[in-house]
Amino acid sequence: MSAVDQPRPDQPRPDQPRPDQPRPDQHSPDQHSPDQHSAVIAFGANLGDRARTIRTAAAEIDALPGTSLIILSSLVESAAVKPHGVDPDAPEYLNAVALVETSLEPHDLLTALNAIEHEHGRTRSERWGDRTLDLDIITYDLLEMSDDRLTLPHPRAAERSFVLAPWLELDPGAALPGRGYVDELIAFCADPVREHTEAEVAS
Ligand code: AMP
Repeated sequence: MSAVDQPRPDQPRPDQPRPDQPRPDQHSPDQHSPDQHSAVIAFGANLGDRARTIRTAAAEIDALPGTSLIILSSLVESAAVKPHGVDPDAPEYLNAVALVETSLEPHDLLTALNAIEHEHGRTRSERWGDRTLDLDIITYDLLEMSDDRLTLPHPRAAERSFVLAPWLELDPGAALPGRGYVDELIAFCADPVREHTEAEVAS
């Protein structure tokens, strides 16, 4: 069993009780007016000009009604993951995470993100398929809910270092409600990511 499979004795498991209180260094969902909400949004692209698509989509999110993009992480690169595991033949992904403040309700935010995906040519013919742009809501305040359109926090975020690593860069105290602190969850992730440099972006 590898190190990532075997929890260390000193390490909380991801299914341990949630951190109910934000850490002192955590981007707090509670420090704003009642109609403002904090969301964490993940970006992924593995077709076309991936870096340009992510940066353009970030600007489009910032332009949504009642919404401000506070900060966009640096870009990371990762292998494409399909239902059977990593697909070495698929184009690699660029990923990033943004911290957002919004007055949009969760389903309205998802509708707006789906429209931005669509504008960038995203089709939904194949689940887990290659895509010009994928936008996921990772968290929305500390909300935990699930219906036929939306699950919060995002159900696979805890296993994805291409989400957790750029999020941790922006917010060292980040936590996934009901799952645990990101700096602890990331130790259980098997998928490696690497920093995407500006030189690579330009090529
Ligand atoms: P994907 O192919 O990964 O983009 O999955 C998109 C589908 O996941 C859509 O049908 C969404 O309604 C659904 N979904 C459920 N929860 C979320 C979430 N937290 N963020 C984005 N999409 C979600």
